[in-house]
Amino acid sequence: MELPRFRGTPDHAVSPLATLVRAPNPGPMTLDGTNSYVVRAPGSRGVVVVDPGPSDAGHVERLASFGPVELVLLTHHHADHSESLAEFARMTDAPARAIDPAFCVGAPPLADGERIRAAGIDLEVLATPGHTADSVCFSLPGDDAHGSMLTGDTILGRGTTIISDPDGALGPYLDSLARLSAFADGAGGAVTVLPGHGPVLRDLASMCEDYRIHRAERLDQIRAALAELGADASVGEVTDLVYADTDASVRSAAEASVRAQLRYLRGTA
Ligand SMILES: [Zn+2]
Repeated sequence: MELPRFRGTPDHAVSPLATLVRAPNPGPMTLDGTNSYVVRAPGSRGVVVVDPGPSDAGHVERLASFGPVELVLLTHHHADHSESLAEFARMTDAPARAIDPAFCVGAPPLADGERIRAAGIDLEVLATPGHTADSVCFSLPGDDAHGSMLTGDTILGRGTTIISDPDGALGPYLDSLARLSAFADGAGGAVTVLPGHGPVLRDLASMCEDYRIHRAERLDQIRAALAELGADASVGEVTDLVYADTDASVRSAAEASVRAQLRYLRGTA
């Protein structure tokens, strides 16, 4: 699925409050690389860094160069977002916060619905489990005309999100999409999407709808495969049928996705 390209030139302001700094870790699972974001109010010296990304010296130094880091936030635990977190928090003497206490440094875990004020801006925490159990989005109500949403890997700038197995689950993911969609509908206009990979997108509501349709189509394909192969078909057999033209480099991700969908359809997640 090719999604409309919007802004998102690496290392540039992508919204009034956010600057995208792309990590040099491109790959089949990371698209162009991990998007780290530096967020602050105009005129604020201090910054909030969301997802410091992989342990790449140049990338981490670049993030630290924007100004005093008041807070480090993590959208979820995957290494391409979190690998440098402990080192970055130490280097900048900043607290780090995530849903998972294992990724917190000098501060408590994030709580759903929590409001955070730092670097002159207000952020709101929305727990959005599904890609992983600890996935979270951050709303910036003061950004752009109708706010922006840092979505991590819950919504990507291109392609679709993988439901990580066994940590992620499709049922919670569909609930999280519905929650983001309801949030977007209540915003009074297009909410900018600041994703964990790929380009920045203009409209959270339409992205949620695209993702919901894609998920429904995939589930229909899995149901059709089970009708053909038998209800107790294996993950490998279903993957062979549904993802027949998938590149070998993302085969394990395709299998994980099939496993998550089978679990959902068989009522075990
Ligand atoms: Zn991830």
